Amino acid sequence: MEAEQFIGAKSGKVRYRFAISEAEYMEIHDDGAGACIACGEEASGVEPDARRYECEACGERKVYGLEELLIMGYVTISETRDMKAAGVK
Ligand SMILES: [Zn+2]
Repeated sequence: MEAEQFIGAKSGKVRYRFAISEAEYMEIHDDGAGACIACGEEASGVEPDARRYECEACGERKVYGLEELLIMGYVTISETRDMKAAGVK
């Protein structure tokens, strides 16, 4: 996953959102993938619908499971990255 910084509209704090390819999503989905929206650190071994887990990197309770991030709009699945990786122009 690629983390991208932005300023949260409600909180006014720095948050992270993530871009991921469809292939990568399928790959990490079953591994209990998740991520921290406060520092951008990826997590593993969390439930897909995990919410507000404590982040091992920054200590904030901002770790969410992959599916939860998707629902919240923090993850964008892109197919174009796959095409780039495959050398399609
Ligand atoms: Zn964190």
